[in-house]
Amino acid sequence: LAEIFANEASIAIENARLFQQVQQLAVTDELSGFYNRRYFYELLDMELARSKRYNRPVSLLVIDLDHFKQVNDRYGHATGDLVLKKICEAIHRVVRESDILGRHGGEEFVLLLPETPVDRALEVADRLCHMVAANPIEVDQIRIDITISIGVSAAGPGCMDSDALFRCADHAMYQSKQAGRNQASVFSDSTGK
Ligand code: GH3
Ligand code: MG
Ligand code: MG
Repeated sequence: LAEIFANEASIAIENARLFQQVQQLAVTDELSGFYNRRYFYELLDMELARSKRYNRPVSLLVIDLDHFKQVNDRYGHATGDLVLKKICEAIHRVVRESDILGRHGGEEFVLLLPETPVDRALEVADRLCHMVAANPIEVDQIRIDITISIGVSAAGPGCMDSDALFRCADHAMYQSKQAGRNQASVFSDSTGK
């Protein structure tokens, strides 16, 4: 009887483990290991609701790799994928446990910083730019220099919902591109347009 019970229990534990694994896979982007776009924006909506209710700061970073098409053109798409993966691992290592990383699409990523005002978020963004620029990626003993451009926005009067918050950070990211890439900018127009 004890043996039957032990077997049943181990099957139940294994089922629970598999269920958790499937749930994790459903919300994770395979290449980056970050949350997929759908789940990231669910989390962002929840965080924005919390921030509004308790009047707490929350910031968003939009991170885009610079001239990434050139990496694919030069080394091939498979190497491009490996480079992307390594950059994501490096970013994951330096952010806090409570920060939330997502893949917006392609070589564009989003980082949600709960409890973080915009000036602190800009420090995080600057640190990420320096970290990526200072650590070239090595694939098959080839050194590939990568830089990133970042846009930062914070929840506020002009950025109340996730769409507006993304638009603001994306706008700031393009300002970083236009200003020469490998840098971070803050969205400063409080109208959110
Ligand atoms: P910019 O500095 O203006 O961002 O230049 P860019 O070349 O990075 O920008 P653009 O948007 O023109 O091109 C993005 C490139 O990223 C094109 C696409 O092939 C590549 N890319 C997007 N997603 C992936 C991916 O999952 N794997 C690989 N290998 N490449 C990708
Ligand atoms: Mg790019
Ligand atoms: Mg892009």
